[in-house]
Amino acid sequence: MTDTIQVGDATAAPGELATGHIPGVELTTGDRIDIPVIVLNGVEDGPTALLFSTQHGKELQGTQVVHRLMHDELSPELVAGAVVGIPVANPLAFMHATYRTWIDNRDLGYVSVENPHGNTTERMANAIWSEAWSDADIVLNFHCNDHPDSLYFQIIEPTAETEADLERAAKAFGVTTIRKDNLVESGPSPIGADRIPTLSNKGAAKGIPELMIEFIDGRYLDSKSLDVGVTGTMNVLREFDVLPGAAKEGPQEDISLVPCRYTGGSGVNRAYGMLRNEHGGLLYPRAETGTFIEAGEVVADVVNLHGERIERVEMPEDGYLWAYAGAQQFATSGGMQTIESGGKVVYAFTHEEPDK
Ligand SMILES: [Zn+2]
Repeated sequence: MTDTIQVGDATAAPGELATGHIPGVELTTGDRIDIPVIVLNGVEDGPTALLFSTQHGKELQGTQVVHRLMHDELSPELVAGAVVGIPVANPLAFMHATYRTWIDNRDLGYVSVENPHGNTTERMANAIWSEAWSDADIVLNFHCNDHPDSLYFQIIEPTAETEADLERAAKAFGVTTIRKDNLVESGPSPIGADRIPTLSNKGAAKGIPELMIEFIDGRYLDSKSLDVGVTGTMNVLREFDVLPGAAKEGPQEDISLVPCRYTGGSGVNRAYGMLRNEHGGLLYPRAETGTFIEAGEVVADVVNLHGERIERVEMPEDGYLWAYAGAQQFATSGGMQTIESGGKVVYAFTHEEPDK
């Protein structure tokens, strides 16, 4: 980009890579916790892509994807426009390996970005919005699921303003695509201008497409997630003309895939939502993510503390599982494979054929 770019205190002239921080918050000790940022300013003009990882503090794989892209795969000579990398978006959650901010138990992606004088997490969301997200032309938001999990996937939640760009981005990234349309029972979704002005919602209302990508085994750094993340992101950057060359078509190689019209097939994979349980205890997953499951098949058992199997959680409709969520969401440093009544057993999706 032919103008100098500043994100937080990172300033990159055309042709430069800069590192710095977006201002965060102060702890009780007065120590600052700021948000690391990497800014790559291309020699040529073009769009701005934001690579955003670890909004949830125990989802580590995207961090190395951002590192690899910003320092090894991309360069100012190759890039037209700019690429901004935020490798650890919620450093407060990250420092305690929690899903949400340990101080106020809020989720960086679920709070308003319009409260610069609000609570701890709202201040960080506001800083990220004003310094980086609001200036992006496309956002790749990297998340991870946890063991047991085998499916790399992306979630799109299109609005009238973002649908065309999201379709291009999803096709370019090339993993299983799951579409959400007004089906999430809680939180800020569905995306729209009348919802809580979160990063996603306010971005969508402004026409900024956001592709949410889920890697597997979020607490570890492995080469497969790194490959999937780098390959998919490079292809999206080609599709949006941040990088030269044509984007490769079709799904990525050597990944499990549930095809749909965005990725390697026809029809739509539709988010069904969360399957929940009645009884508390130990959670035993019984089915595989990304594999077809008939309605009525058992997807998980719950075993009480006497060792008795007290519940079988069944698939409500023909479809697929996308991730067991149990241990992932707890705001403790060591989320376990246990569950309470109404807990998060597993996310499911259905496949509709033909397109509707
Ligand atoms: Zn996440």
